Amino acid sequence: MAYSMFFLIFSAVFLGQTPTAANPKVPNDSPPPASAAKATRGTSLNHVPVGVEITGKEAQGRHIVFTFDDGPNYRTTPILLDYLDQYNIKGVFYVNGRRFGGKNPISSRNRDVLLEVHRRGHYVGNHTWSHPNMASLSGPLQTKQILRNEKIIERITGYRPSLYRPPFGLMTRFSRSLLTRRGYTVVMWNLDSNDPFQRSAGKNFSNVMKDLYLYKQGMVLMHDTNAWSVESVPRIIKGVYLWNCELAARGEPVYEFATTSEFHIEQTQKVPEPTLAMLLAAKKRRDQMTAWCANLGKGVTKP
Ligand SMILES: [Zn+2]
Repeated sequence: MAYSMFFLIFSAVFLGQTPTAANPKVPNDSPPPASAAKATRGTSLNHVPVGVEITGKEAQGRHIVFTFDDGPNYRTTPILLDYLDQYNIKGVFYVNGRRFGGKNPISSRNRDVLLEVHRRGHYVGNHTWSHPNMASLSGPLQTKQILRNEKIIERITGYRPSLYRPPFGLMTRFSRSLLTRRGYTVVMWNLDSNDPFQRSAGKNFSNVMKDLYLYKQGMVLMHDTNAWSVESVPRIIKGVYLWNCELAARGEPVYEFATTSEFHIEQTQKVPEPTLAMLLAAKKRRDQMTAWCANLGKGVTKP
């Protein structure tokens, strides 16, 4: 209940503006396309169940979660962290231990970045040790991929991850069973930037916005190892703000960037009260968006 109140509080009022040419039209209340319809029921992103697979389409309400895979990368991830801070948004980072679990200087720099990801309040999830196609591995090797990564994340951040994203989105029956036993939630995505294949912040931005227009909520898939992906993030945020300006002007609920604390619920098995920090961050986001909408046409850059 308190949690719903929390979202009510920060889904408050924003001002109006039209979408850019690069964007599809502002989403309206028309029914979602058939492909998304069956996924819109069920659990909210606020109540992620253990041992199941979610894609992001399950969200109720216009919640968006940024997810970043395959990092950290000491060259690109810190820039992303600053962008996210600038907009008071927390993301989920699905990391590979091979990037930060070695003894070489690059590993060491990436390890510092991972700590910083954690320190700034983002969630760190398991993406296996070295990003293999799990279907090509024996059971013991699949176990090693998951547990080795789990252990090193726990050693560095101090907590055991409870979210898992399969490399290439490919699950095996063996890994599914292991993940369920260990209390993981498998998290796929539905807002795909296609950033491994389109090395353009503009294209990554428009891909996410197109998917968001289709599904109206969900998980953004990006890779914080790419400079172009990182550069698309502020554009996506501003694109969402633009939609929000118009939605709020029409009196409709606005999009909200969900926070990682929502994913901690299943670790404690209860809905946490919003912390003061969460409320303050939500207020900052709301004020920032209100100011942004009000200043359109006065030097505020569209995405
Ligand atoms: Zn990956």
